[in-house]
Amino acid sequence: MRNKNFILSGICILVAQGVLLSACAKNSVAKTIEEQTGQTKTTKRKQFLVIGIDGLTYSVLQTLQEQYKQTRLRAFDSLANEGISIKAMIRHGEPTWSAPGWATSLTGNWVEKHGISSNTYNPADLQRPTIFAVLSAWKPEYLTVGYAGWTSTDGLMSAPNKVPSIKKAMFTSATGSGIDSYTVRMTDEVIKNLQVYQTTSMYIFMHYKQVDALAHQFGYGDLYNRAVLEIGDNIKRLCQAISNRTHYAEEDWTVVIYTDHGRQPSGFDHGGDTEVERTSFLISNKKLTAQNSVDFVEIPRLILNQFDKDIFGNSMATHLPISSY
Ligand SMILES: [Zn+2]
Repeated sequence: MRNKNFILSGICILVAQGVLLSACAKNSVAKTIEEQTGQTKTTKRKQFLVIGIDGLTYSVLQTLQEQYKQTRLRAFDSLANEGISIKAMIRHGEPTWSAPGWATSLTGNWVEKHGISSNTYNPADLQRPTIFAVLSAWKPEYLTVGYAGWTSTDGLMSAPNKVPSIKKAMFTSATGSGIDSYTVRMTDEVIKNLQVYQTTSMYIFMHYKQVDALAHQFGYGDLYNRAVLEIGDNIKRLCQAISNRTHYAEEDWTVVIYTDHGRQPSGFDHGGDTEVERTSFLISNKKLTAQNSVDFVEIPRLILNQFDKDIFGNSMATHLPISSY
């Protein structure tokens, strides 16, 4: 709070001449102001779309990406080409279950600090503020929007120290058919809000659950791959909706994709301490870090680093009350 008065406003909107940042650029022609000038300040309105894909094994994604990079996973490839695609490692000893993983990536703390150690928990157990709460305190003009694909992520977003979202939807995931309308319906909801809130600063978080749900039932294989490809289709739709926004040229979008955990070799299970289970990834159209691998717990801070620095040159992330782990 003490620093709030010293932060430069990030919502001053100016149309940067001729500079267009595409969240889904097909090549590296589109550059940010920073890349073109070497300056750290941009006058565009910061916007965020953070996509969590439950239980998506990075090595499987990479294999599919190679196969479908010109087609159904083109959005993944475009984002990565413009920014980064790197490993995000969960440290040894952390439970590689979903609720602990999402809690870690939403709070920037490992389990021992945030307190969610299994998928069975009470939202009141969450001991650290989520990125939604932090952002709402620092940038109250932002609308935080969370879409939960599962009761547990719904619970995390509804936790007491979470500032209410403008729109929080719970979608249950039907399994068995491989592809159902769940992924599409959630995407439709986000696209609708992208159309409604044309002049609003937004931080949108989505949790796609379908990939993990299918894997628990069928393991790796055709249905798993089809679920990943369907998400690829829908991320393309999201990117298109972003670039269709009325004031898109005045906006600076950060799009982030990651997963909460990997899987065991059969694809069915996870929760253990093997390297593949501890391997998440971080794909973004922004160069969130120069490293080729990051700690999973750093994801929210890397995202918040996209905000302008304060008058002392500190990033917002250094002010977060979530850095003690
Ligand atoms: Zn799972």
